[in-house]
Amino acid sequence: MRQRVLLFSFVLVLVLLWSAFDSLKVDYLILVNRNHSLPSYWDSIVNLVPTQSVDGEMVYVEEETLIHFRELQQDLLLKYDIDLQIDSAYRDYNTQKELANQLRAQYGVEYVNVYVAIPGFSEHETGLAIDFTLVKHKVLDKVLGHNDNKAYEQIHSILHKHGFILRYLAGKEVITGYGYERWHIRYVGEEAAKDIYERKITLEEYLNIY
Ligand SMILES: [Zn+2]
Repeated sequence: MRQRVLLFSFVLVLVLLWSAFDSLKVDYLILVNRNHSLPSYWDSIVNLVPTQSVDGEMVYVEEETLIHFRELQQDLLLKYDIDLQIDSAYRDYNTQKELANQLRAQYGVEYVNVYVAIPGFSEHETGLAIDFTLVKHKVLDKVLGHNDNKAYEQIHSILHKHGFILRYLAGKEVITGYGYERWHIRYVGEEAAKDIYERKITLEEYLNIY
């Protein structure tokens, strides 16, 4: 009898440990927006890997997100001859703070209120978000609007096949809290991405949190 109790306790401890460990895996559906901050445990569970930005600088992206971004790049190159590159990816708290300050000085407070997150509330702090750019257009064109509409349409049409969504949709500003950003993509996994794309909804609507 005593042995059985011991065995039962042992199994129970294993199950508890396993579930505690399991709950600390990266949640690809994590919601970070103007109302939902990054969970404090996030930095300790996310696996960030280095890669290069369009400017040749070292940037970090969450492991699985980067694998799928590489597939997206390949697909776009083969299908449409589009050279998609990373403009910005993971940003830590301090980098986000500096960026917000810099953009406030450069473009004013209104621009920041529409397009920039305050530190602790940026999706870029998850490592699952990427601001992309097309090599021929370079970084600033996204702000100035000198864009190749057709290329953007082609990019947007296949994001979901690689588990990405266009995060800030036109006409959904009230829900997302951000202006339309045709360069900001977010990895959520293939299943959710497909559903979100087909229903033309936001992550907030998919999760029913807004
Ligand atoms: Zn972004």
